[in-house]
Amino acid sequence: MTSNLTYAIHKNELVHISQVTSGLDCNCICPNSNCKGKLVARKGKVKSHHFAHYSLEDCGGAIESSLHLLAKDILRKTKVFALPDLIGYELKSNRTAKVANKLTGKIEKVE
Ligand SMILES: [Zn+2]
Repeated sequence: MTSNLTYAIHKNELVHISQVTSGLDCNCICPNSNCKGKLVARKGKVKSHHFAHYSLEDCGGAIESSLHLLAKDILRKTKVFALPDLIGYELKSNRTAKVANKLTGKIEKVE
């Protein structure tokens, strides 16, 4: 399975490919802070819509950076988080067991 870059930076905001116009007119840059290269919104009829580096050279960190920024954006907007039960392996009893209960919390600040 291949992954496509579907989020980019437009005017300092994270945007989804569905929110921009096709081609260079999207005026988007790569979400990887080490790259910030100009992106092209590819919104054709054959492949799924995605962003590509205008230079045709992928920096290799764009997708990871976009997911990182998306997670921070969601946490900033929702201000809550929830983690599932933590299941671990107990050496004493030689079995798996719940180590910690589900954890939820409120977020004060996302940097
Ligand atoms: Zn890049």
